[in-house]
Amino acid sequence: MIKPGAGLNMASLAKSNVTTNVTVTGTVLNMIPDNPFNALANGDMLPVIIFGLLIGIILAKLREETQLVNDFFTQGNRIMMEMTHIVMKFAPIGIFCLMAKTFASLGFEGLMPLAKYVGCVLLGLAIQAFIVYPSLLVILTRLNPIKFFKKFISVMFFAFSSSTSNATIPLNLEKLSALGVSREVSSFTIPLGATINMDGTAIMQGCAVMFAAQAYGMDLGLTALLTVIFTAVMASIGTAGVPSVGLITLNMVFNSIGLPVDAIGIIMGIDHLLDMFRTAVNVTGDAICTIIVSFKNKSIDLDIFNGKKAPEETWDDITQF
Ligand code: ASP
Repeated sequence: MIKPGAGLNMASLAKSNVTTNVTVTGTVLNMIPDNPFNALANGDMLPVIIFGLLIGIILAKLREETQLVNDFFTQGNRIMMEMTHIVMKFAPIGIFCLMAKTFASLGFEGLMPLAKYVGCVLLGLAIQAFIVYPSLLVILTRLNPIKFFKKFISVMFFAFSSSTSNATIPLNLEKLSALGVSREVSSFTIPLGATINMDGTAIMQGCAVMFAAQAYGMDLGLTALLTVIFTAVMASIGTAGVPSVGLITLNMVFNSIGLPVDAIGIIMGIDHLLDMFRTAVNVTGDAICTIIVSFKNKSIDLDIFNGKKAPEETWDDITQF
């Protein structure tokens, strides 16, 4: 409805190759890699993701037997993260050049769609944080979301200012204990969530795709939209809980439907601000899921949650853990 990319005519700047004319069956079949190396070489993201998932599951199953391969991938991941950091150091220069080139051709009107994009992402994040999460809490546990937000707001602020889910883990654990959640549950779900549960990142990526598709004048079909949903969820799982990585994995989402990645250069300029907001949503999602899980497992002290009893654990207990 917002049409964030409308009015930004980027079709004249780069060619797009959006895959809108494929069928659902075709997309599902294309997800199965017949030659994973070919898919890697062609930047065919869906088969690469499926292949990566399968390898990961098998490595987890075989454990010690495949320790060497496991170490290889772990170290490969470290190398890629380091490379990403180096590339990100050059990002300001790259963004400057991309912005200058784009706005030199599009003129001042180009700024309006960018503002609409920011508004669109913020609206999506607000709906998720203040409508979807509280509703889940009420429907699944009948707990009062206001009581949750009162104690949890400091975690959201910390995530907002640091832009990293990982660095927020200790504070998140502390506040969940203050909400009566057992550490047995939170010490498993919070680090896991900080690594793989990134709703805010997926929302940003969805908006970014719509922004770019409209800027290129492309009408995304149902299949392309389903592909975007699937890849954005996968990309958010693959996003590390540190600043700006969601923007890197956004490449994968663009590639999956053949959108030119030039549009990422435009949104890069304002991504730091959005990263702050989406990280706050990411950590809130982890906490809400943790409360729901511990409620279902009867491992939440409802008196502590409702403020009738003081929490048993202190900050020291948690940091020692
Ligand atoms: N900064 C986000 C987080 O740590 C990840 C991202 O979307 O870039 O949760």
